[in-house]
Amino acid sequence: MHGGEPRDRASDSLAEPIVQTATYTFASTSALVEYMEGKVEREEYGRYGNPTVRTLEQKMAALEGTDDAVAFSSGMSAVTTAILALVKSGSHVVLFSDCYRRTRQFVTSFLDRFGVTSTLVPPADVDAMQAALTPQTRLVISEAPTNPYNNVVDLRRVAAICRERRIRTMIDATFATPVNLRPAEHGIDLVVHSATKYLSGHNDVLAGVVAGPNGLVSLVRDLRHVLGGVLDPHAAYLVHRGIKTLAVRVKQQNASALALAQALEGHPRVRRVWYPGLASHPHHAVAKELMTGFGGVVTFAVKGDLASVGRFVDACRIPRIAPSLGGVESLIEQPALMSYFELSTEQREAVGISDDLVRYAVGIEDTDELVADVLRALDQTA
Ligand SMILES: *Cc1c(COP(=O)(O)O)cnc(C)c1O
Repeated sequence: MHGGEPRDRASDSLAEPIVQTATYTFASTSALVEYMEGKVEREEYGRYGNPTVRTLEQKMAALEGTDDAVAFSSGMSAVTTAILALVKSGSHVVLFSDCYRRTRQFVTSFLDRFGVTSTLVPPADVDAMQAALTPQTRLVISEAPTNPYNNVVDLRRVAAICRERRIRTMIDATFATPVNLRPAEHGIDLVVHSATKYLSGHNDVLAGVVAGPNGLVSLVRDLRHVLGGVLDPHAAYLVHRGIKTLAVRVKQQNASALALAQALEGHPRVRRVWYPGLASHPHHAVAKELMTGFGGVVTFAVKGDLASVGRFVDACRIPRIAPSLGGVESLIEQPALMSYFELSTEQREAVGISDDLVRYAVGIEDTDELVADVLRALDQTA
């Protein structure tokens, strides 16, 4: 609620003021010279900083337990700027293959053009990661938990192996939020978020954050000054306001997702459930050690084909069909019809996305109503 925030604000405002300006004035040429000589700290120009954005950044650093954080106009702007700040031509990057699709695309088909090589390793497979490291490896990237199967890599092992070789580690912790998991506590260097999801929490703004130690964050911030993916002050206010209720929202979402996962597991129409809070999840033990809650995303396979599973999705009355997650509204999607639509059933199987898969991102609606809605939809479309 209060972490990282100043006690006193401009005009004695209780709420965070939105400083809606593109530039900042200097009272005189001598005031400008004082600033240029580094004698005073203040704002200069909107791409270099904004007080509303700065409060959000300090709040995120407090939540993640890092020295500092830097905010961006989207999650992808945060991810790409952070990666670009850490690699150069000739560098090698190791990615866990189930990291965010656009992150993978950026590294494997964009950075590739500039002489940055990469290796994809199977989800959560730390031995494969270790085997993939080369003397040129500069960065290891994973998400935790991952989309859509909620894989949870052992961050402590990843951090220990990489630290020893001076390789940087970056975890996209969008699914977890600092309420459930704080990667820096486990030795991870950079934590990135799509603040579009749980942090803002209301499905009404796009934003991104990178948190970490001072040295690395300032490298990332310097590159943001150049690439320009800055967060608008009004959007920063919305994220800041969202974070005010982050803890209560995420706790509710943790509880609903666990209840939903438990109700689905063992249901005669459900083939399998992937939720790290269930003992049946392959990474339940690691998740229990690292996380204080298991998140709001439940992925499950409903017996049937693409069309019959679609009928189940259509029969759910509470969740809306949409990409994204983490907001107050429950959202549901069939990955086969969304991110993997252009692939055939066989191609989808090859990348581990079956046609019967459903991803349910719970909102903050009443837990019993959410569960009853899904069970009714399963029964009605059996
Ligand atoms: C949505 C998402 C992103 C991208 O964030 P945008 O805010 O949409 O740019 C990155 N990583 C994960 C895990 C996401 O869910």
